[in-house]
Amino acid sequence: MERIYLDHAAAMPIDPRVLEFAEGYLKDNFGNPSALYSVGLEAKRAIEEARKKVAELINAENAARIIFTGSATESNNLAIKGTALRNIGKGKKVAASAVEHMSVLNPMKELQKNGFEFNLVPVDATGIIDVENLNDILTKDTTVTSIMYANNEIGTIEPIKEISEIVHEKGLYLHVDATAAAGRIPIDVQTDGIDLLTLSSNDMYGPRGAGAVYIKQGVRLQSILPGGGQERGLRSGTENVFAIAGMGEAARIAKAEMAQESTRLSGIRDALISEILKIDKSYLTGHPTQRLPHHASFRFSRIEGESILLNMDTLYNIQVSTGSACSSKTLEPSHVLMAIGLKHEEAHGSMVITLGRLNTSEQIPHITKAVDETVQRLRKLSPL
Ligand code: PMP
Repeated sequence: MERIYLDHAAAMPIDPRVLEFAEGYLKDNFGNPSALYSVGLEAKRAIEEARKKVAELINAENAARIIFTGSATESNNLAIKGTALRNIGKGKKVAASAVEHMSVLNPMKELQKNGFEFNLVPVDATGIIDVENLNDILTKDTTVTSIMYANNEIGTIEPIKEISEIVHEKGLYLHVDATAAAGRIPIDVQTDGIDLLTLSSNDMYGPRGAGAVYIKQGVRLQSILPGGGQERGLRSGTENVFAIAGMGEAARIAKAEMAQESTRLSGIRDALISEILKIDKSYLTGHPTQRLPHHASFRFSRIEGESILLNMDTLYNIQVSTGSACSSKTLEPSHVLMAIGLKHEEAHGSMVITLGRLNTSEQIPHITKAVDETVQRLRKLSPL
């Protein structure tokens, strides 16, 4: 049975073009970018070229605004803790939306344990930030507000420009986790009004082991990883040149192919949504139109997401998700689904499809048949 992989939010294959571009930095061009001889200079040049390509993907003012890290998790930690700690003189409050990834919520909770006030901004039933509530929550003491560009579990795209206007009216900093959105939809940090932005290499077909933070000119951060002073002293440690060079090339390809690829994938997404919603008592989660082009998320009453996942995998060789890869280790319902107002039993029946470059429209009938048969089979067995 041909494998149909539909969980690109959890992991993606590296693009073969990216691998070909970057593998030389694991082999011949292995030098340390801080070394002054030729092999070192070559590695340094590769990093600066990657910085430029990443800056271009998000229309940063210039390449120097990009700091490379090891992952999106690390970027979120640096942006949030680094900014909050450096600006402690201005206030000890931070805020984030209730649907943020754990790599945003947990650094905020850590700050809370250390004496900061942490405010959670609610969302509506489609996952869109309650903008009025945000306005009420923010005060002059709120140094960092973190709102994601788009949600990885329900695909909802947030009105970032509107949010940034509210944050900036109060003279505060906005951090945006763009891990799920980057390379999928256009991001322009200048017109969107973003002060800090998180990016991940492995969420855009780059190698694992690289992330980046965009830091607008004038935003001051404290390092959370002191050491040899690489990346302008904000992220010490010998650079992972292979992953960084690969991330740059992945960003370049994503920018060049985004318009065409998102049109192609949104066609498959819409066909899947309309077919799967024909199943009795099936519902779309997230926003019906303001959603990522590759993202389709559902819930089915009276069955468990874990059983859907295992049935789809073992009987059809189709890999789907049942929420975030992180929270699926616990049996707790996803905090995202709880934040959009679902009851525990409703949140347990979720299934998330995230499409990628290898998916085609020919796969649609096979996927919808597999989902339909799985749901019917599990409902027959369900004690609920
Ligand atoms: N933010 C979002 C929105 C994510 O979906 C993820 C997971 N891909 C992360 C942050 C963390 O990424 P990583 O585990 O690669 O650090």
